[in-house]
Amino acid sequence: MNKSKELFILVSLQDLDIMLREIAEEEELGFETKGKEKLQKARDELARQLSPSVLHTYQRLSKHYKRVVVPVKDDVCLGCFVKLPTSVGARGKEDITLYRCENCGRFLYWLD
Ligand SMILES: [Zn+2]
Repeated sequence: MNKSKELFILVSLQDLDIMLREIAEEEELGFETKGKEKLQKARDELARQLSPSVLHTYQRLSKHYKRVVVPVKDDVCLGCFVKLPTSVGARGKEDITLYRCENCGRFLYWLD
C-alpha cells in the first residue's frame, strides 16, 4: 500500500477512536449516546485495511497516547516535542515507508 493511503487510514482510524473514547466517557457519565455501532463498524473496516504490523503498533501505542499519529513541524515531533535528526526529516518526506518518532514511537506525518 502506498504511504499516503496508509497514513490517511491511520489518521482516520485515530479520529474514530477518539470519537469512540468520547462516547464511552459520556456513557460512563450516564448520558445516552447515538451512532456508536456505526462508528465502531467504520473503525473496524478501516483497521482491516492496514497492514497487520502497522495495526499492531497502532493498537499498542494507543494504550499510552491519545494521539498516535502526529504531525512534524520544523523537524520537531509534535507528539513528544523532541527534534528529529535532520536525516529523518529529509527522508521522511520523500520515503515510501511510514516513519515513527525515534523518541516516542508515534507515527509521523509532515506538515509542509
Ligand atoms: Zn515523538
